[in-house]
Amino acid sequence: MATQIISCHRNDSNNQAIDTHAHVFDPSLGPYASGRAYTPEDAPLEELIAFNQKLSTDSEIGTLVLVQPSPYENDCSVMMQSLRRLKDEDTCAFGIVVLDLDKTTDTELETMHYLGVRGVRLNLQADGKEVNIDKLVLALQKTSDRICHLPGWIIQLFVPGWSWDLLYQPILGLPVPVIADHLGGMLGPSKLPSSLHSSSTSQPGFESLLSLAKQSCVYVKISGLYRMSNELSSNFRDLEPIVRTFAREIPDQVIWGSDWPHTGDGKNRSKDKLKCKETFRVIDNYAIMEQLQTWMGGDVYRKMLVDNPGRLYT
Ligand SMILES: [Zn+2]
Repeated sequence: MATQIISCHRNDSNNQAIDTHAHVFDPSLGPYASGRAYTPEDAPLEELIAFNQKLSTDSEIGTLVLVQPSPYENDCSVMMQSLRRLKDEDTCAFGIVVLDLDKTTDTELETMHYLGVRGVRLNLQADGKEVNIDKLVLALQKTSDRICHLPGWIIQLFVPGWSWDLLYQPILGLPVPVIADHLGGMLGPSKLPSSLHSSSTSQPGFESLLSLAKQSCVYVKISGLYRMSNELSSNFRDLEPIVRTFAREIPDQVIWGSDWPHTGDGKNRSKDKLKCKETFRVIDNYAIMEQLQTWMGGDVYRKMLVDNPGRLYT
């Protein structure tokens, strides 16, 4: 039986799946930042397109959202070149940038908008750094002040699950929606202390995240399961209660991202390894998508792939 993986076409092109989280690493388009924590293998745009087509049951390319990865820090020129190329080829694509707002003019933001950028990523957890909530709240406010006039722009956050308790009030007051990366940082039992093994949905931050999503302040991205669970051999089955709870409680606030090309977890990184390219994880994306479909049910799965991100990315 053919399983629809990421193609959810009806009869019109508005119903394609949207991969809301993928990266391009291409040294031929521009250099990595000298202060980066690691050097990834190459992952050029052509390979991303091929991956997306392969995952689709009809080999059509869906909509892509390119997310600025940490090795480029806040130099988004590789992403801008990629977005321009996709635009020239009439492929629908968007971008989430990382910026030094003090050095970015409003005109530059408008050019980015024209190329498909729809948000700013605050990745304070990149490369395993501790999260400073006070600093993050200031960054949230400063970023939303700069982007709230731009149509459809969002803030994307990759933070540990517990931080939603502390971010609850600040996010309630923000004029722009927030995307919570990688299950909002919620961990499966394989990564939680034993006291939470039987109730991963009671982990700190979970209720706050759900509540923010129910109030349409937050979208939860179903992505990067391998970052939230150690159960590679079962395709991260210990995340089932978390994903099922999201599907049941916030069916209109979940979106999906492949997180291609599946970068590593920051362990074993050091400055003297920068000359060696860090390999990507080997992930069974087909099995994960089939599992998500089973856990969420066909209707919510479709909302996650098509309808919900379709409201965000226009
Ligand atoms: Zn990623």
